[in-house]
Amino acid sequence: MSANVITVPPRSWPGRSLLARRMTVPCPKVMTIFGTRPEAIKLAPVIQELEKRPFTIQTINVATSQHEELLRPFVELFNIRVDYDLRAMRRNQTPDRLCSRLLSLLNPVLIKEDPDLVLVQGDTTTALSGALAAYQHGIPIGHVEAGLRSGNTWSPYPEEINRRLITQLATYHFAATTLNRASLLAEGVDEQAVFVTGNTVVDSLKSILARGTHAPTVERILNATSGLKRVVLTTHRRESFGQMMSENLSVLRHFVEAHADVALIFPVHPNPVVVEAASVLNDHPRIHTIEPLGYEEFIQLLSEAWLIVSDSGGVQEEAPTLGRPLLVLRENTERPEAVASGVARLVGGSPERLANLLEEAYREDSWANRIGEVSNPFGDGQSGRRISETILEVLGAGKETSVVAASALFSR
Ligand code: UDP
Repeated sequence: MSANVITVPPRSWPGRSLLARRMTVPCPKVMTIFGTRPEAIKLAPVIQELEKRPFTIQTINVATSQHEELLRPFVELFNIRVDYDLRAMRRNQTPDRLCSRLLSLLNPVLIKEDPDLVLVQGDTTTALSGALAAYQHGIPIGHVEAGLRSGNTWSPYPEEINRRLITQLATYHFAATTLNRASLLAEGVDEQAVFVTGNTVVDSLKSILARGTHAPTVERILNATSGLKRVVLTTHRRESFGQMMSENLSVLRHFVEAHADVALIFPVHPNPVVVEAASVLNDHPRIHTIEPLGYEEFIQLLSEAWLIVSDSGGVQEEAPTLGRPLLVLRENTERPEAVASGVARLVGGSPERLANLLEEAYREDSWANRIGEVSNPFGDGQSGRRISETILEVLGAGKETSVVAASALFSR
């Protein structure tokens, strides 16, 4: 029988608790599951905070390696101890196949470790599978970055539906903003279960900025583009694949060709669809298609951008802290706070609009040339601490209590 006993959380499955167990010196176990680079970036601050209290809380860190190559440098950068690596990545894997593989891989880990809380982040297939597996074992779930909504279940795909499903499964919802909280409440989530914490990406970004690293890879690109207006591009979302992505990349190429003082730098996502589409940018002296960058390098590059063009979620949250203008290469956004802060413009689904917005940004008096200090609507760099304190509180960690858990209604 596990030594870790907790109070039964409001929405947990009653079968979670084994026969009456007595808690004297509680040291609950929190299992964190992640598999992609944004999950590592955004969960690192929570793991670090939890691990400051080794006698109060036990951590188990599970990497699914949904994106193996992309994930590894981030795990190393943030010094995340990986207790289990599920190595789930396969080439061209569809979300449904990944989900079913992850459910069977997570099953024995959950049985062996019997955590008191499973933490997932955001909207990936790893996050959905982690939440679903935990639910099936009657384990309470904490959802970091809860309550983001684009309003369209097919865009972004499958992220929008993943995050909605995780909301249904989760016990504790860590919302980055008050807007995210409002979305959860509008869907009927109990307000006692929602905690507005800010987004942990701001913690990670600030910690990287404080290091002030100057990486040779980026220095080379910065030297090669010195004196030019640098457009930094990232695009990799499934809903951009195909004609949309090819047309957007052609628009960007034409923009560079039309303006002798503009350079384009594109760290290309390793997804073969993106790599193939990126070939339209080949053979131009002011266009640099490069390997994906480590976080320190990428942040250094973003800081030196004249304009960012991106369909990434995390980049929308980073642009306000960096004070760099951003064109959001998406039809909609679940992060309208970036647009409201004045840092970002939504391109929408049309390459013509991208062309117009690029030209508008290029004008001397444009909004893009006037962005100054912006306070980041997504957080203040303290989100990891807030989330870990809430976790300690809800798990009653470190408190001398005596809890008799409910009898099991079901066996595992
Ligand atoms: N990023 C990075 N190197 C790159 C491109 C992106 O470190 O070459 C970072 C970026 O700063 C952001 C995160 O990766 O924090 C975003 O990841 P991604 O776009 O894969 O996922 P999303 O945020 O869209 O879920």
